[in-house]
Amino acid sequence: MKRIAIIGGGISGLSAAYTIEKKRQSGTPVEYVLFESSPRLGGVVATERVDGCLVEAGPDSFLTEKPWAADLCCKIGLGDQLIGSNDSERKTYIVAKGKLVEMPDGLMFMVPTKIMPTVMSPLFSLRTKIRMAAEWFHPRRNAVEDETVAQMVERHYGSEMVELLADPLLCGIYGGDASQLSVRAVLPRFADMESKHGSLGRGILKARKKTIAAASLPARPVFTSLKEGMQQLVDALVARLDASALNTSTLVQAVIREHDGWTVSAGYQSDCFDAVIVATPAHAAAAALSTDESLARDLAGIKYSSSATVTLGYDEKVRRSLPPGFGFLVPRSAGSRMLAATFVHNKFPHRAPDNRALIRCFLGGARDEKIIQTSGEEILRIVRDELRQIIGLNAEPLFARVYKWKSAMAQYSVGHLERVQRIESRRQNLPGLALAGNGYNGIGVPDCVRSGAEAAGKILAEMGMWSSA
Ligand SMILES: Cc1cc2nc3c(=O)[nH]c(=O)nc-3n(C[C@H](O)[C@H](O)[C@H](O)COP(=O)(O)OP(=O)(O)OC[C@H]3O[C@@H](n4cnc5c(N)ncnc54)[C@H](O)[C@@H]3O)c2cc1C
Repeated sequence: MKRIAIIGGGISGLSAAYTIEKKRQSGTPVEYVLFESSPRLGGVVATERVDGCLVEAGPDSFLTEKPWAADLCCKIGLGDQLIGSNDSERKTYIVAKGKLVEMPDGLMFMVPTKIMPTVMSPLFSLRTKIRMAAEWFHPRRNAVEDETVAQMVERHYGSEMVELLADPLLCGIYGGDASQLSVRAVLPRFADMESKHGSLGRGILKARKKTIAAASLPARPVFTSLKEGMQQLVDALVARLDASALNTSTLVQAVIREHDGWTVSAGYQSDCFDAVIVATPAHAAAAALSTDESLARDLAGIKYSSSATVTLGYDEKVRRSLPPGFGFLVPRSAGSRMLAATFVHNKFPHRAPDNRALIRCFLGGARDEKIIQTSGEEILRIVRDELRQIIGLNAEPLFARVYKWKSAMAQYSVGHLERVQRIESRRQNLPGLALAGNGYNGIGVPDCVRSGAEAAGKILAEMGMWSSA
């Protein structure tokens, strides 16, 4: 019987465990033990039901175009629970000069693909609009050297585009900073388009034509979630695992290669395994694997940011007074701590009864690490103050929830791909070790599901147990 340890019970570790569990159930002689330091499984994926509303503490959905999370949901019997975002109501605002200004239609990330809505938008200055037109003729560039997202966007569209769109979008997705994040790691498609077409606008239109020609399918919603919230995925996965293999409230201190296997030390106990999957944030992997200095150094070099989400529930009157659409992004220049707010009741069905409004605010990120030391009450005060300033919301919330996530979001800074390559080369020299999680090849829930399954696949393949799927 081969034994595999899985460190970390977030979605990455659970996905790895599920892959191994399937093998075990099909008669493959393998077992696993999962170690999770906190009292609950799921990591940053957590949902609460409050006053008839669904409150997401961490991720609220995943990108539909990345298939791995939805595929997993289908495999574990949640296919009929998947829901799409209400894209007919999709509208996002940017806070500019103290007001909500609608993002023009046709923007793909920050690349304009429709002329008229962009020309007519009050969001951009004339200078930026001229840059957008000129971008169509941008020369090709072979992205040999990595650079920051801000550098690339500025080269194509100027600094206003960085400030108003690229930076707020990256803050909203990565808790990141456009002047730090690597284009090749975060927006590889754009780096590719620049080297093939020069202009990002032309690149996107060409890619879109190909997709439409290849599949004349109806448009899919941009975001997918689950009727009962993201926790539904965690609960369904856990229900399919071997309960006796799941150890919560168990912090792993060290993972050491010994006697052709791996010793995992947690508290006063140590246990030996044939293989180990470390599915924690990279900084925790660095601490556990500290006996391998060069591996640990590269793992620790992957920076993480902290964040807070605040969800406020309001009554029907507030719901009627809020603007339509999914919510707004706040550029740094607005001087707010809040980075983004989602009108949850508009974005997804099944989130709030008709007589409730649900607003979810996002704070923290790479430039506001202090958020983690700020008390829940203070964060709530800040959010209410800023909602008052930005959308004139004075009403008392019916309920409020504040969640803080310390060092949970990986920041793929310039040089990230090379660092991941070095980590992978080192790992290949350590038989029986696999890494999973949001620190390496994608931060979203679907990427983490894939990374867990791939890590388990690698280990099972090394053990000669992978072919009989
Ligand atoms: C606020 C927020 C909003 C997000 N929104 C979205 C979104 O809308 N869509 C999307 O796709 N993605 C989103 N993400 C990103 C995505 O949710 C995460 O990247 C993903 O869930 C991470 O999963 P994970 O299992 O790799 O890590 P985690 O969820 O961090 O789990 C790692 C686990 O390892 C445990 N652990 C750490 N060290 C040890 C140790 N030494 N021993 C034992 N256990 C240990 C931790 O306790 C934790 O439970 C969001 C992230 C955050 C924080």
